[in-house]
Amino acid sequence: MTTTTTTTTTTTTTKPKRIDYTDNQHSILYAETGGCCPLCRAPILFRKPGVKKITKSYEIAHIFPLHPTPAQTKALTGRTPPIDINALENVIALCPTCHTRFDKNFQLDEMDQIRKLKDGFLADTKAKETAAQYVIQEEVFGILDKIAAMGSDAAGIPPAQFEISTVEKKLRTGMSPLQQSEIKLYATSYYIRIRDHIRLLEQSDQVSIRILQSQVTTYYLEMHRQHPHNKDAVFSYVAEWISSRTGKSLLAARVLTSFFVQNCEVFDAGA
Ligand SMILES: [Zn+2]
Repeated sequence: MTTTTTTTTTTTTTKPKRIDYTDNQHSILYAETGGCCPLCRAPILFRKPGVKKITKSYEIAHIFPLHPTPAQTKALTGRTPPIDINALENVIALCPTCHTRFDKNFQLDEMDQIRKLKDGFLADTKAKETAAQYVIQEEVFGILDKIAAMGSDAAGIPPAQFEISTVEKKLRTGMSPLQQSEIKLYATSYYIRIRDHIRLLEQSDQVSIRILQSQVTTYYLEMHRQHPHNKDAVFSYVAEWISSRTGKSLLAARVLTSFFVQNCEVFDAGA
């Protein structure tokens, strides 16, 4: 017991060491970038013309510096280092040029920008993992096909049938103006026809449609829990889930998600 305590004390007082990341950790860090340096967009694994071998052109960079220089220490005043400086959450794959520039010409703004990019990568990975866990009713395949075949006829919708202010109220907070515009446009263009199609489906199997609605609601709530202050992200992740579970067009899934925003009480959550 005494030996263990002594070891722990020694470890915490020494400088953290750079660690060697395993092949699997490299795979995670490479995959989250989508294959490009997150700063300059240069490919980070590529094949030179006429050469069989793959060239690796990335390095694993610490976001919060591993061993801050005196200048970095000064710049980082008031910032708390992560508990585990070598954790995957504090490192990111960068091309050697951007890595060197970031380290040598350290700017707090750039560190914050890289932190934001990394947080986006982590959120995307988590959303993909969550999407794999949530199934969706088979009826949605047909609905998406129907939407994909619809032409837009916003002008043809009788105003009395559609209350756009409902959408506006729901989207009041936490959503960008551009995202609001997309949802309003889709809702006004497609709402009536999607609603009629779903009513038709309900006549043959009401339970299935109710299950579908509750599945979308559940997924929406899960995304809302992961991103309580970012309705743009919640909207996109719901649409991506519908698209990835069905293999159908992401555009049709965004139209259907807009329909649910207009139609479901749950999208008021957090308003
Ligand atoms: Zn780069």
